[in-house]
Amino acid sequence: MNYADSARIRAVLEHCWRTWTENAIDADIVIFDTCSVRQKAEDKITGKLKTIASHQKVWITWCMIQHTLRIRKFTSSPFVQGNFLEIAQQQTPLIIGYTNEEIKTYRLWSSSIIPINHAFNPLFHRLHNQRPNIELMRRIDDTWHLPSILQRLWYHIPPSVHTFNEYENIFPTQIPTSMNSHIKTAYIPISTWCNQFCAYCIVPYARGLERYFPKDHILQEVRHHLDQGVQEILLLGQIVNKHPEFIHIIQDILTFPQVKRLRYTSPYPTYYHQKLFELHEQAPQLCPHIHIPLQSWSDMILKKMFRGYTLDQTKQRINTIKNLKRPISITTDIIVGFPGETDQDFEATCELVRYAEFDMIYIGKYSPRPGTYAAKHYPDDIPSSIKHQRRNILNDLLTQQSQKNNIKEIGKTRTALINTIRKNEKGYLLEWYTEHMKHVQIPLTWDNISNIHPGDFLPIRITDSAPFILYGEII
Ligand code: SF4
Repeated sequence: MNYADSARIRAVLEHCWRTWTENAIDADIVIFDTCSVRQKAEDKITGKLKTIASHQKVWITWCMIQHTLRIRKFTSSPFVQGNFLEIAQQQTPLIIGYTNEEIKTYRLWSSSIIPINHAFNPLFHRLHNQRPNIELMRRIDDTWHLPSILQRLWYHIPPSVHTFNEYENIFPTQIPTSMNSHIKTAYIPISTWCNQFCAYCIVPYARGLERYFPKDHILQEVRHHLDQGVQEILLLGQIVNKHPEFIHIIQDILTFPQVKRLRYTSPYPTYYHQKLFELHEQAPQLCPHIHIPLQSWSDMILKKMFRGYTLDQTKQRINTIKNLKRPISITTDIIVGFPGETDQDFEATCELVRYAEFDMIYIGKYSPRPGTYAAKHYPDDIPSSIKHQRRNILNDLLTQQSQKNNIKEIGKTRTALINTIRKNEKGYLLEWYTEHMKHVQIPLTWDNISNIHPGDFLPIRITDSAPFILYGEII
């Protein structure tokens, strides 16, 4: 999601006649588009700040700062803090950096306030004391107000510059992609933020309540990037398959002839629709990969997490996927050591792993995120050593399963999207992933590399495998 957001920040700044560079050393202003889903991400930003030269200005946006916003003190509901649509509709906002005195005296919520800097006490104070070159902290939803904010910071803005009418309508002209070394993949957001309030998760507090991008806008953005040479579309949303028009969006994108691959992330187990499974079965461009983030397979733990589904319901979903005629790769997320997780609860989760035959599990050891329901109400009572042990047990199960699944791939014909081409002692090594989202390596000699580039889709035969990796040859 952050890649897609950064592309929007770039679009607005270029609109204000600023030149974008990906190289932080060359920049006058270095922008941190942050995440706070895990504490590790926040710690990383603090470290990265030290690498910025003192003559460079620093801007920080997104959820690392949004859950420290002081305005929430004056609102009736803590959930309002991230839901900024109302103020985003104001045409002439008051841009305000609260001082401590203002915070004490300001009593009324005003929908025309664009909070910056001091509004993010105490984070702003702590970081600004260490790094006086931090010039701006702001919410991501205020990206479309950047022309006004720039003026407030005394930057010259051409008089012709207009503001965008809300965040969802900013149109990134550059291809919003990630660390891929090619531009054949575009990340397209279709919804933002989340209403689920899972007990352990900071996202709804840090980012706000969910909103959906209009279908026409999404399709327009897809078309724009396809015209620039994109061939793989990745639809994004905190609960991507909850978009009321999700199936229609998928169906419409599948009609574009340039689309070689279509993927989406992150889905939620309860919003998988039978029609979507049918599309996975029938539409070759829709990747045969389904991520179903289950977190646990203990009904007691799922209830405490507020996940809203049961073991039996998830079993039905997995059975449906396994019964599709087209072989589908299944992946999941699991949290180990959630408060109160007994040995029996954990064994139930191991049973899930054995039953579902996952290709990949993103395993997280539970750690409380301040401000969440779990942090406030559930003691973090599973010792770190047990969390560690449970994670290792799941890892071992996953490794065995990945080995079994990957052996079945040998001899199959797949398509590899090439991301990197590395030199080695024997020639070159092509790397990236198949349509099942499996990492593949293809060794090539010096002679047959000349026509191959990052971003190419190559037909390959799988020749060998190991856990978490396939080896192939071009056919
Ligand atoms: S669905 Fe749950 S885990 Fe996912 S972003 Fe929303 S609250 Fe967080």
